Amino acid sequence: MTFSSVIAKTYQTDILIIGSGSAGSTAAIAAANSKYKVTLVERYGFPGGTSTQMLDTFYGFFTPSDSPKKIVGGIPDTIVNALDTSGDIFLRPNTYGAGTGVNYNPEKLKQVWDKLLLKSGVELFYHTTLVGVEKLGAQTVCVFFHKGTGFFTITAKRVIDASGDADFCHWADIGYEKAGEKAPAQSMTTTFRMSNVEHDIYEAAGGKKMLKEKMAEAYSKGTHPLSRKEGSAHEMCQPKCISTVAVKVTDLDPLDVEGITKAEIEGRRQSFVFEDFFRAEVPGYENAKIIGLSHQIGVRETRRVYGNYRLTKEDCMQAKTFADQIFLCGAPIEDHRKGPDGGSETFWQYVPNGGIYGVPYGTIVPKETQTVWVVGRCFSATHDAHASCRSMAQTMSMGQAAGMAAVLSLGHDSDAKNIDIKKLQDSLVRLGAVLELPDAIADTSRNGWANNQGLL
Ligand SMILES: Cc1cc2nc3c(=O)[nH]c(=O)nc-3n(C[C@H](O)[C@H](O)[C@H](O)COP(=O)(O)OP(=O)(O)OC[C@H]3O[C@@H](n4cnc5c(N)ncnc54)[C@H](O)[C@@H]3O)c2cc1C
Repeated sequence: MTFSSVIAKTYQTDILIIGSGSAGSTAAIAAANSKYKVTLVERYGFPGGTSTQMLDTFYGFFTPSDSPKKIVGGIPDTIVNALDTSGDIFLRPNTYGAGTGVNYNPEKLKQVWDKLLLKSGVELFYHTTLVGVEKLGAQTVCVFFHKGTGFFTITAKRVIDASGDADFCHWADIGYEKAGEKAPAQSMTTTFRMSNVEHDIYEAAGGKKMLKEKMAEAYSKGTHPLSRKEGSAHEMCQPKCISTVAVKVTDLDPLDVEGITKAEIEGRRQSFVFEDFFRAEVPGYENAKIIGLSHQIGVRETRRVYGNYRLTKEDCMQAKTFADQIFLCGAPIEDHRKGPDGGSETFWQYVPNGGIYGVPYGTIVPKETQTVWVVGRCFSATHDAHASCRSMAQTMSMGQAAGMAAVLSLGHDSDAKNIDIKKLQDSLVRLGAVLELPDAIADTSRNGWANNQGLL
């Protein structure tokens, strides 16, 4: 499509990042600590993407086992430290599920991202949506829309697609697999938060175990028309508040305008079915009410770009390591999809023996390009591998690797595929990234993060 007749303004940058989710914001911070101009564009009015639109727990920093290891560091640590300084995190130890989570206040996280982005010197455009790519190459021209400014372009020497949906790659005709093509797409979730929850009463009545039983009973007896028989509700940083991952919406396409519209409506409907259930059935929730729904329905997967390397289930389950690995992951495959009875279920498959695998550089470099990286939930992986490697500690790690790779590629006038991997790995390690499998067992029993640093 040609936009030239309606372009209101033009901008130039060195490194352009599309989407300010956990991957894009981290990429921007990493890239901006250089001599190059970095521009970050986000369609909403705040940074963080899924991390602030709907969630409150970073998973993936720790491996899930009786002897957890801390496997992510660098800028992700800086983010958590900033939250810890203002008392806005606590650790939620877990030996099952995705492992110990780092719970945070998502509203505070929006400000932390803002501050770190501005401090790094990133040029920010909020309320701005990528709507086209006019030219791909040494100087890539992207077209954006802001409702007041109209259409405008940014010309960039390097581009990092961190849009979650691989919108840049889509508009630039870069190849990808669409979720649902080869394996059922993961379901979508509207998260909701409730206030006025009496945690003591809830815990005394049996806590998590009791909730699980009550939910399964309501589902099987049909006393409340729940979409599934299990789901999580956990304490937040804010007193007497809980956050949920309970709603499940399946069989709708989030990349289709009619599909996403129906999904948003269905997600809200299910949220209030859950509210009725909690108030009627769960001790401690009698006077609780929903105080917020996620900014939009949570979308787990849409497009996964074909990269120079495609991470596979075997790589994860065989705990493979790679000479060009740029970060680590130990999370299980966590696949949210329809179960045999038609309700949505979560299927888990753990890396054997608390194993940890490495993720190679080629997973963030699209096959057909020289000046583009793709990070976050649209990176190059099969459905199963993606279901393991999409927690936010990992998406932040991809971001910091891509940001630094873009800087290296500009500095040496090399293309994305030919950067010096050793140099990239060295600069990641200098930043604090963990690239070698650690031996030390992490102490996840503490409340704070900075305190943990010396112990890990
Ligand atoms: C319901 C749900 C629960 C989850 N639970 C957890 C959890 O508890 N812990 C955990 O660690 N992980 C969890 N995950 C996984 C994890 O949150 C995501 O994989 C991760 O946040 C993806 O980060 P991202 O930066 O790739 O994408 P996103 O966070 O989706 O960011 C993409 C950004 O790009 C912007 N954007 C998109 N298109 C455009 C465009 N055309 N122009 C401009 N901007 C654009 C978006 O607005 C957004 O800000 C969950 C995911 C979901 C959906």
